[in-house]
Amino acid sequence: MATRKKPFDPADSPKLALEGRIVTMNGAFKVIARGRIYTQNGDIVAVQDAAAPAPAGFGNTAVTDIGGTIYPGLIDLHNHLPYNVLPLWQVPKKFTNRGQWSRHAEYHSKISAPMQTLAATPELLAAICRYVEAKALIGGTTTSQGITLANQAGIRRYFKGVVRNVEATDDETLPAVSTRVPDVAARDAQAFLARLKKEKTCYLLHLSEGLDPTARRAFESLQFAPGEWAITPSLCGIHAAALRPEDFQTLAAKGGSMVWSPFSNLLLYGGTADVAAAKAAGVPISLGCDWAPSGSRNLLNELKVAHLWSEAHAIFTPRELVAMVTRNAARLLEWDAALGSLAAAKRADLVVVEGVSGDPYLQLIRAKESDLSLVMINGIARFGAEALMRALGFSGESLEVGGARRMLYFAHPAADPLVQNLSLSAAQEALKGALRSLPALARKAERPKLMSEAGLARKSGSTWRLALDEVLDTGVDLRPNLPLRGPGGRTLRAAMMRPLFAAAPPKLSAAVAPLAIDRLTVVDDPDYLDALDMQKNVPAMIKEGLRDLWS
Ligand SMILES: [Zn+2]
Repeated sequence: MATRKKPFDPADSPKLALEGRIVTMNGAFKVIARGRIYTQNGDIVAVQDAAAPAPAGFGNTAVTDIGGTIYPGLIDLHNHLPYNVLPLWQVPKKFTNRGQWSRHAEYHSKISAPMQTLAATPELLAAICRYVEAKALIGGTTTSQGITLANQAGIRRYFKGVVRNVEATDDETLPAVSTRVPDVAARDAQAFLARLKKEKTCYLLHLSEGLDPTARRAFESLQFAPGEWAITPSLCGIHAAALRPEDFQTLAAKGGSMVWSPFSNLLLYGGTADVAAAKAAGVPISLGCDWAPSGSRNLLNELKVAHLWSEAHAIFTPRELVAMVTRNAARLLEWDAALGSLAAAKRADLVVVEGVSGDPYLQLIRAKESDLSLVMINGIARFGAEALMRALGFSGESLEVGGARRMLYFAHPAADPLVQNLSLSAAQEALKGALRSLPALARKAERPKLMSEAGLARKSGSTWRLALDEVLDTGVDLRPNLPLRGPGGRTLRAAMMRPLFAAAPPKLSAAVAPLAIDRLTVVDDPDYLDALDMQKNVPAMIKEGLRDLWS
């Protein structure tokens, strides 16, 4: 197939026929040992045995034998994407709730001050968006929480990339998730309940992150009268790590769900949610990476951690874990009519792992980034083995992953103007340089602005900036939404908010030091496992297991 000059419109994606082992993740968990998936115009047209006749209109379509196992695209239900440029933090001590580390001096110097410095440098915005999206894609993610941008007028929008964004779908059949509650409502469990009841789809909320009674209080405060809870089927609690078995019973009885982020929890707290109790109670569970500074680089790592924890505690089967990033996640989003499994009339989002033997669920859990030979979204091949991408008619930026030749295809007729024509390698170089010179960038950010915002806008073509979850109310509430009263009765959350585009905090340049960029993949990072070994809170079983799985 000749390379096209114009980018493929997903609504007009080409007729493709892929042959391989197919893990449908449908209700019967059907696996087709040798099957074919036919796609066109963004959708799956048919999923069937390779011996079956081609569906109508595909009689002349060349069949591409991909030599791999095909899964639904992976859904990451919790990620603070912009932070994924920052390397894994050597967590200095064992924390018991998130209020502790988010106030730690080292957290400020290694994570929040560097990120605020990058965010205060508008010319890096495009590079950050390009880099972190590519990183998710190379790890098999086809749907994720998005990147919030804000302008001087306080208008927010989401970066529009090629990975689906749960908060902004541009697709009326895929209802957007809410992650935002007005502060007034959030201070009152009953008002919060009224807000939840209006929710048509999923509401993602950080809930009880940490393992101690303070963390659990965020869940308890959802009870506004005996037995009356501000929980509806829309509520999906991120982390839910401090919940006791009876809390999971309550969550399940009210129809709530959770996102499990075991690696983040283990890094910070040395323990994670009691998912055995959550499972026993019948709480629907999905997975999320959280972020690179204290979490997984991609879903392939998060699946490995979840698998190791599950094996050690006899909780989830490999199939159940794969369901967490496919059909369960789609169900939580109420997107299951379109995504989460492979069937005719669903969207053509899929990932391919090289090889067709052994347990298909373990195969995905064990996969390294270099084992992924194709990531397709809406019928468009976005990442994959270079030869396969070309065979399917897609041609973009070449790169190596674990020594294998890979290609990225970012072209989109409605591509975000921010990143048009920006290659991943250019974005990576810009960010490496910026992270090396963080102190100078911070000093620059602290200097009084010589140019008006309007002048800056003309110069850079945009006033959009990163809206950081921990600085602005991006709607991704990092702190408990309901009043978490400290001894003095103060609301902890309010104290953390800062106005949009306030001058950078005075300590920024004093706090930051040069940093290395977080690499795109684990498989290309010779230092990753050694750095992990030095983490204080991660159990040896997880460290050894990850070394085994990644080596
Ligand atoms: Zn988070």
